[in-house]
Amino acid sequence: MTTQKRIIQAKTGVEKECKGWEQEAVLRMLYNNLDPEVAEKPEDLIVYGGIGKAARNWESFDAIVHSLKSLEANETLLIQSGKPVGMFKTHPAAPRVLLSNSVLVPKWANWDHFNKLEKEGLMMYGQMTAGSWIYIGTQGILQGTYETFAEIARQQFGNSLKGTLTLTAGLGGMGGAQPLAVTMNDGVVIAVDVDESRIQKRIETKYCDKMTSSLDEALEWALEAKENGEPLSIGLVGNAAAVHHEMIARNVHIDIVTDQTSAHDPLNGYVPEGFSLAEATLLRETDATRYVQLANASMRKHVEAMLELQKRGSIVFDYGNNIRQVAQDEGLENAFDFPGFVPAYIRPLFCEGKGPFRWVALSGDPEDIYRTDQLIKELFPENEALCRWIDMAQEKVAFQGLPSRICWLGYGERKKMGLAINELVRNGELKAPVVIGRDHLDCGSVASPNRETEAMLDGSDAVGDWAILNALINTSAGASWVSVHHGGGVGMGYSLHAGMVVVADGTDLAEERLERVLTTDPGMGVIRHADAGYELAKDVAKEKNVVIPMDEN
Ligand code: NAD
Repeated sequence: MTTQKRIIQAKTGVEKECKGWEQEAVLRMLYNNLDPEVAEKPEDLIVYGGIGKAARNWESFDAIVHSLKSLEANETLLIQSGKPVGMFKTHPAAPRVLLSNSVLVPKWANWDHFNKLEKEGLMMYGQMTAGSWIYIGTQGILQGTYETFAEIARQQFGNSLKGTLTLTAGLGGMGGAQPLAVTMNDGVVIAVDVDESRIQKRIETKYCDKMTSSLDEALEWALEAKENGEPLSIGLVGNAAAVHHEMIARNVHIDIVTDQTSAHDPLNGYVPEGFSLAEATLLRETDATRYVQLANASMRKHVEAMLELQKRGSIVFDYGNNIRQVAQDEGLENAFDFPGFVPAYIRPLFCEGKGPFRWVALSGDPEDIYRTDQLIKELFPENEALCRWIDMAQEKVAFQGLPSRICWLGYGERKKMGLAINELVRNGELKAPVVIGRDHLDCGSVASPNRETEAMLDGSDAVGDWAILNALINTSAGASWVSVHHGGGVGMGYSLHAGMVVVADGTDLAEERLERVLTTDPGMGVIRHADAGYELAKDVAKEKNVVIPMDEN
C-alpha cells in the first residue's frame, strides 16, 4: 500500500469544478469519502469496514478526478474496482458513473484469491458505500443501529434499555455507532476495541462518553450507571476474545451482547488475542497465513464467549460481520445458535421497502440539512418515531464531512422525500443540489445469506439475481451512479450487493429520474420479499400497486 500522505477534503460552496452538478456531485462525494473527518485511514484511501476503499490507489484516484472534471452530461465513466477504465457517450438521463467493486467469478471468490489480486494491483475491496462514494461517516449506520436496539427494547425490556448493560466490540467506522445507539435508548454499554485511537475518535465525535483501559474501572462506571438508570457508553481498550471471557469469569450479568469487529476480514480486520496493534501489523506483513490462523482461532474464542453469555441469559445477536461463519469454519458447530440481526429485528421493515435512505448537502452548509430535517416533519408528521429520530439526530449527531442525514423510509416515502428535496433546490431554499442514496444494508439490493438474506422464508438466501436486477433497474431508471459489489459486510464469497445514488439538482430531468429511481429501488425490496412469500410484502405490493406478474393476489 502506498505511503504517500495526502489530505483530501470535502469540497463545499456553489462554484463547480466539473461541467455539471451531477458530475460535481460525484466528485464531491468521492472527496467526502476520503475527508479525514469521514474516513478511517484516508492516507491509504481506506474509508471504513476493514480495507473498504474509495479508489484503488492514488494514481487511480487522480485519474478519476481528472475524468470527472472532463465528463460531459451525456457521457458515462466506468470504474473497475477503484480504477477508471473507460468513458462512453450515453445520454443525459443515463448514469454518469457505473462501478463494479471486488466482483470475482464464484469459484475464485475467496479472500486468498482476492488478496493476491489486490497485491498485484488488479482489485480493490469496495465494501459497501466506500467504493460507491456514498459513505457519510458513522451517522450512516446510526439510525439502523438505534432502531435495532429500540426493537430489542420493545421486544424484551418494556420499550427502553434503561437499567440494562450491553457488551459489544468494534468501534470502527460502522461499529462506532453502537455506543450512541445504546445511550439514545437510555442503556449502558461497554464497547471493547483493541485500538485506542478508534475509541478516541468516537469520543471526539460524541458517539462515546468515556474511555478506559481498565476492566475494573469500566465495570465500576457501568454498574453504577445501570443502578442509577442513567445512559452511559464506555469504550474499553482491549481484545474482545479475551475481555468477554474475563466478564464471564467475573460473573457479570450482561443483558445484550453483539459485535462489530471487522470479523469479515481475518487478515486486515480482526486483531488476534495477545497482539498489540504494532505486533499485529508486523505479523500481517511477515506471515499472513499465521496471522489468519490466529485471528480465526481468536474469533472462535470470541464466539464461544458470546454463546456462553447466551446460555447465561443474555440476548445475543450477530451484527452483520460474519463472525459466526468464521467460528463455525473453525469447528465450533453451534456457532449459529444465536441469530443474525436481520431475521431477528429488521426483516419486517425490508418487506415494506424500508431501508437506510440518506442525503447529503453539496453546499456544505448545515442549514441545508436542517431545512430537510424540517421537510421530513412536514411530509411525515404522523410518524412520531421518525420525527423523534430527526430531533435526536439534530441534537446528538455531529456531522462528519459534508452535512448529511439518514432515516429509514419505505416504498412511496422515498420518492415523496426525494421529489420534495428537488423542489427545495429548484426554489432556492437550499443553496446547492443534494445527493440522495442509501447504504447496501438494504431491502432489495443485497444477497447475503449470513446477513440481509439470512433465513429467508423460501430458502432463497443465496440467490444473487436480486442484487443484479437492482443495479440493472436503477441504471435503466436513471440513477446518477450505480454500483455492483461483492463481499461487502461479510467478506469475500458471502455477499453480492448493489448501490445507487441520484442527484436532486432542481431540474425537470432530475425530477423525472428521482421519481423513477426512488420507486424502482425500494420497489425491489417489496418484490423480493413478496417473491419469498412474506405476506407483509405481498400486502404492501397490493396496497401500493407494485406489479408482480405471478402474484396470485
Ligand atoms: P472497521 O474496520 O472500521 O472497525 C473494526 C474495529 O474492530 C476496529 O476499530 C478494530 O480496532 C476493532 N477490532 C478488531 N479486532 C478486534 C478485537 N479482537 N477486539 C476488539 N476490537 C477489535 O469496521 P466497521 O466499519 O466498524 O465495520 C465493522 C464490521 O461490521 C465489519 O465486519 C462490517 O463489514 C460490519 N458491518 C456491519 C453493518 C451493520 O449494520 N451491522 C454494516 C456495515 C458493516
